[in-house]
Amino acid sequence: MPVYTLPDLPYDYSALAPVISPEIIELHHDKHHAAYVKGANDSLEQLAEARDKEQWGSVNGLEKNLAFHLSGHILHSIYWHNMTGDGGGEPLAADGVGGLADAITDSFGSFAGFKAQLTKAAATTQGSGWGVLAYEPLSGHLIVEQIYDHQGNVGQGSTPLLVFDAWEHAFYLQYRNQKVDFIDAMWAVVNWQDVARRYEAARSRQTILPV
Ligand code: MN
Repeated sequence: MPVYTLPDLPYDYSALAPVISPEIIELHHDKHHAAYVKGANDSLEQLAEARDKEQWGSVNGLEKNLAFHLSGHILHSIYWHNMTGDGGGEPLAADGVGGLADAITDSFGSFAGFKAQLTKAAATTQGSGWGVLAYEPLSGHLIVEQIYDHQGNVGQGSTPLLVFDAWEHAFYLQYRNQKVDFIDAMWAVVNWQDVARRYEAARSRQTILPV
């Protein structure tokens, strides 16, 4: 039995149009995300085989593959739920997401400052990567991370709350080389209810013990 399975999308392929075309959503979920799920399962199987045979010559590569594919699976699993056709705007206390709104202001000074930082972090990724709003458990603050591939440049223990996929497969069929236009458009489909739900869950768990 595989450890990981591809989750269903929480909406139809066309739910995020015109910000993201149905063709991109279908390929992105059914092909790209599926490949990360398979890669994570394959890596675990190959590590089990290495343990059985006590053959460790490939352990570095296998651990690297596991980190890459597992992180790809995790980030895409969050990505789909971070978006909704009814999204956009700012998190507002009146919408029941005041805790998240306060945390953004406390950590970044203003929503506008946070939005500018995450937009720039996502739009300026070199090669493939992500722009991510994350909960940092040692300080209890929110931070923006610019992730390389799916797993590099990450603060250990940080929990991704809102993730912008900046890989070319996320936008190229529709936005061509205009990555910044894609990231700008993404804000119109952010599901703040989902981001707030992830924030409340992250802050209630002590994944890293304070010192
Ligand atoms: Mn992707």
